[in-house]
Parts: sequence; C-alpha cells; structure tokens
Amino acid sequence: MAGDDRIAYDPQPRRPAWGVRVPRRKARSTQLPLLVAPPPPVVCISLAQGPGAPARPTVAAGQRVLCGEPIGEPAEAGLPRVHASISGRVTHVEPRLVAGLGVPVPCVVIRGAGDDERWPGYAPDPAADGRPSPELRDGIAAAGVLGLGGALFPTARKLATAAGTPVLLLNGAECEPYISCDDMLIRERADVVVAGARLLLAALGGLRCVIAVKTDMSEARVALYHAIQAAGDPRLVQSVVTGKYPAGGERQLIELVLGREVPAGGHPADAGVLCHNVATAAAVADFFQRGQPLISRIVTVTGGGVARPRNIEARIGTPVAELIALAGGYQDEPRRLIMGGPMMGVALATDELPMTGATNCLIAATGSDLDGTGVDHSGAEMPCIRCGDCVEACPASLLPLELLTAARTGNPGELTRLGVAECIECGACDYVCPSHIPLTRHFIAGKAALRRGHREDG
Ligand code: SF4
Ligand code: SF4
Repeated sequence: MAGDDRIAYDPQPRRPAWGVRVPRRKARSTQLPLLVAPPPPVVCISLAQGPGAPARPTVAAGQRVLCGEPIGEPAEAGLPRVHASISGRVTHVEPRLVAGLGVPVPCVVIRGAGDDERWPGYAPDPAADGRPSPELRDGIAAAGVLGLGGALFPTARKLATAAGTPVLLLNGAECEPYISCDDMLIRERADVVVAGARLLLAALGGLRCVIAVKTDMSEARVALYHAIQAAGDPRLVQSVVTGKYPAGGERQLIELVLGREVPAGGHPADAGVLCHNVATAAAVADFFQRGQPLISRIVTVTGGGVARPRNIEARIGTPVAELIALAGGYQDEPRRLIMGGPMMGVALATDELPMTGATNCLIAATGSDLDGTGVDHSGAEMPCIRCGDCVEACPASLLPLELLTAARTGNPGELTRLGVAECIECGACDYVCPSHIPLTRHFIAGKAALRRGHREDG
C-alpha cells in the first residue's frame, strides 16, 4: 500500500454517465430552522435495530426509567445497546409494528413523566479521540450508535470489521428527492459532524476522512468548510459530488469521490474505504462530547400534504402522527404516506406507527408530489421496447432489461450471471422506463429467491 497517494481524492465533482436527474423538492423542508421536538407523551422503541438479533429487554412493565437509560442489552458483542428516549414508566414490553417493518418486533413502550430527567450513567469524555480504537468502538456500541443513513448497520461492528482501513468516507450526499435531514444537520451542526469524523477516524485507525456533500448543498458546504478549518485537522477534507441520483449510494460515492471501484461481491474496505453517514458521525460525537447515547435523530417531514415542511430532531419511538403535527399537520389530502425518499422509501399504512433510527424522512405525498418524481410507478405497464434507457441509468453497470427476463422466468443461473446481487435497488431503471415496468420490484424478488435457494442448498 502506498502512502498518501493511495488515499488521494479528486476535489472536482465527477460527472457520471449513469444515474438520473430527479426533481429535488428539498427546498421546501429547509426554509425553517431545525426544530428540536419536546419529548412526546409516549414512545415505542424497537429492540430490533438493524441486522442481527434484537436486543434483550432489561426493563419490565411498571418500571420507571430515565431518559438515556439502557433498556435493552445487545444479544451479541458489537451490536448496539438500546436506550430510553424519554423519562417515564414502562407500560409494555411486547412485539409491535414500527415504521418501515412489515412484521411486529420486540418493543419497549414508555409513557413519559414529562420531566425529561436524564440518566446520569454516561459522562462526557473530552479525551476520547486519544483512546485506543477498540475502547472507542466499545463506547460506540454502548452508546447504541447505528448507521443513520437508513441501513441501521451497527456502527461499532462495521468499524471493527474494517479496522485499519485508510479512508473514512462520510456520506452527506443525500441524493433522494425531498430528504434534507443531513443537509440540515451539516448546516446547523457542522462542528459536531467534524468532531464525530475525528472520533470515527480514531475508532477505525484510519488515515484520512473525506466528507462528501452535493453540489446543490451550498449552505452546508460553507458550514462544513468553516468547521473543518476550525478543527485544523489536515486529515479531514470535503468533497463535492454531483446532484444526480443515486450519487449517495455507497459504491457510487466511492467511485465519485475516490475514483475506486468496489469489486463485485466485495466490500468498500476492499477498496480501502469505510463509509458512514454524517448523522452517524454526529451521534458518535454526541456520546463522547455530551454523554448522550442515541435517543433521537433528525427527520425530514415534508410533501405537499403537510402544512409546514421542516426538519425535526425527534426522540426515537415518537409516533409518526406527532411528527406530522409538529410540521403543521395534514393539508390537501395526502394520497400516500412514505417513509424514506420517493425512490427507495416504503409506504406506511398508518401514521400511528413509531419512528425508528431508520426514519430519515416522512413524505405526506399529494397528487402533485406523485407526478414525475418516481414516487408513483402505477402507470399501465407495457412491453419492453428495448430502448436501453434502463441500461444507461443503472449505476451498477447492470443490464436491467436482461435481468428482467431472468427474474420473470425465475432463472437463478441467469440472475447470478447477470449480477442481480449487485443491484442496489435504487429504482433509477424504473424511473426512466417508458414502458412503466416495475423493474426494481422484480430484482428485489429475484434476489430474495436466490437467497432462499442458497439457504436451501446450504
Ligand atoms: S427502459 Fe424499460 S422499455 Fe427500455 S429497455 Fe429498459 S425495460 Fe425495456
Ligand atoms: S438494476 Fe438495480 S442498481 Fe440498476 S438501476 Fe435498476 S434498481 Fe438501480
């Protein structure tokens, strides 16, 4: 491995041939400043956080808990601990539905006492970035930090698996239309993101951190520039990438920022890079600088169906309906409630579900939101005309039209040969398809069938 040239990055935004330009519609949720929501009367906190076994509850119904107190211990080392996001009394420990998951998961329900009294068990650690990497990773797991980009992958485990990887790439390039929570985080708390970047770098044992934002995030870019200057740490740099979708995909961002390709079937660490989201970095800083574990996250609440779209820092487990109310309530009869962005998000059946760490955005979508943004794929499906638009759009260099045939015929050999496992389910092919073919849906089903086949063979 060479030295600094191995970790050089290109400060000029690259212009990828792949991807699509989607209407951004982010500005409407960045007009108002970040709202720090008061603790809600009731929270329902999922103990199933990302991949891996759910945490084991350490509280029982009737027990009083303080805000930030552990309520779930990880089933395995390296998985995150779960914390009470408000102070109050536990009313239920039972399986419940939460936003974004179709099946009930173990949850702890807490009725708030209204005092927001903090658990005194964690203290700030001003000398944290000088500590050994394994010690920092233990702290990150104890803090309950997980990938806040949406995947909820346990941060400490990801760091441990890739320990010593030279480049840390912080993803602030949220490329989905409508979502602006990372933009708002950087605008208002760039210093916290930068502090988190240094802590993550220490926990990884890396050499350099590149923080990526998009060309159209001008306020965030300026704030980040000043925060990096103020930190005076030459290991930190900012990179600006195209606004094309899906520039914020992990592999796509590595390609754009570092000019490196993650090998098929490999991991970013194989290309010398580890990616984390900027909000994850901020959560790490919150723990070591303020002694605050992961009890909240920023959620973009937007769409033509809410009166005052904005970003809200909300306690984990807050009902979606409360977040809608904090954004002024419903207006104009929304036709669909979506968690996440319009390209990769999921429709919610009800606003009574509690948010999780993965809830980065809620869109109360009206008819005008659904027109031309990729939200609505319900146009009448027609035969493929082999125009090739999906091939051009695909950021993973796949042949979606060929994959479609393989998926429709359920041919596992062809699906594998055509690389369905490399599909990131971004929906760019659906977006451009003039025949309204729901390609991504077929590929998701094809991947699931392959996984089932592997399990049965194994
Ligand atoms: S974009 Fe749609 S119609 Fe065109 S080649 Fe791909 S699947 Fe066929
Ligand atoms: S094939 Fe997969 S990766 Fe390629 S554009 Fe379609 S959804 Fe995205």
